Amino acid sequence: MQWDYWRLLTVLSLAGFVGLVFGHMMTFLFIASLIYIFWLQGKWFQLKSWLDKPKKNRSPEAEGVIDDVCRQIEQMRAQNSSRKKKLTGYLKRFQSATAALPDAVVVMGEFGQVSWANTSATELLGISWPRDNGVRVNNLVRDPTFQSLLEMDADAPAVVISTSPMDDRIQLEFKVVRYASKDRLLIARDITQTQKLQRMRRDFVANVSHELRTPLTVLRGYLETLTTESDPDLWRHALPVMQQQSQRMHLMIKDLLALSQLETGDKPLLHRPTDIPRLLAAIVEDAKRLEHFNSHQITLQILSDKWLLADVDELRSAISNLVFNAVKYTPEACEIEVIWQVEQNVPSISVIDHGDGIEARHLERLTERFYRVDSGRSREAGGTGLGLAIVKHVLQRHNAALTIDSQIGQGSRFTCVFRKQIG
Ligand code: ADP
Repeated sequence: MQWDYWRLLTVLSLAGFVGLVFGHMMTFLFIASLIYIFWLQGKWFQLKSWLDKPKKNRSPEAEGVIDDVCRQIEQMRAQNSSRKKKLTGYLKRFQSATAALPDAVVVMGEFGQVSWANTSATELLGISWPRDNGVRVNNLVRDPTFQSLLEMDADAPAVVISTSPMDDRIQLEFKVVRYASKDRLLIARDITQTQKLQRMRRDFVANVSHELRTPLTVLRGYLETLTTESDPDLWRHALPVMQQQSQRMHLMIKDLLALSQLETGDKPLLHRPTDIPRLLAAIVEDAKRLEHFNSHQITLQILSDKWLLADVDELRSAISNLVFNAVKYTPEACEIEVIWQVEQNVPSISVIDHGDGIEARHLERLTERFYRVDSGRSREAGGTGLGLAIVKHVLQRHNAALTIDSQIGQGSRFTCVFRKQIG
């Protein structure tokens, strides 16, 4: 500030002095003032063009107020640019986080027009941003249930469930949330898996109840009759049936508990080097003692002397299930082969029977809990319908998989394929 006064004072003093020498002081003072005003005006113009295009033009250089103004503007610009950088960073992070969300997110304007959408919105709803920018969402997603949600009062949070316009196997839960004053946020969540799990849970409870109801009804019936009857023949007939039914319930609960332990992972896995040839030989001997063993021809083929790193109890239960099934579900004198081999470093145990075989439509569902090809036969054979589900879980815990091939009239092959676990 002081600079400006000194400069003005110097200019005027010099002009006054020269004017005094030449005898035209007022004229000189007037001319000097004019020159000073023009010079100052020039600096302000320079300042204006620097403000308009800071990169192209230079800032005015003049000690005093103009310089101070320039310096302050520079400082503000530097602060603004660092704030802008920070905000751009936040925005980018926010956008990439929302883009990575598994849920579809669409920002809608007052009339339901698309303002922004993440990548899941393209996969689940077919809404792509910036392609669909400004297009109304109800023109893009035509589902009537979804349309009704859009028309609802968005202040009352509502949820509708409908199929994805991209894939009708995907179930979506749509939600519209109002924010700011008029903008709305559309969120669509893939609930296919959750619904499947809920359905499975419902089916499971229904199946368990159904499975336990039959033996319980038999037991109750006999108990009611026996309380009033003392006929020894009836007792003789009833007791083995009651014993058989209670045994059936016992087996089912035992299998259910085993399955639940496998599923929850509560039971720790005890991986030990396991002598598979010896284990298979023991299982084959057990199979020969089964009630349903009826002149079956079981051959054990040991094509490798390698061992496997496994939990021996779990593996015994899984392989026994396969071998016992081969005995239970095949006719008298049927041939059964149990093979242990390691081919191209892939160990496998196969149980092959030459029985009636299983129709192809059943194969995919065989490892589901309580799935039976022939319920009557399974129950008659003392089956719970849980055996193959247990096998599947045990193998999963051993990083192995079960493959099932079967041909009607030729028989079935159940193979446990392990992955590099040789001890
Ligand atoms: P279950 O306790 O009834 O034996 P599993 O889960 O072990 O239950 O087997 C499911 C169904 O698969 C059986 O009920 C049976 O119908 C069929 N199954 C299993 N193994 C064989 C096989 N080797 N041959 C024919 N059918 C089989």
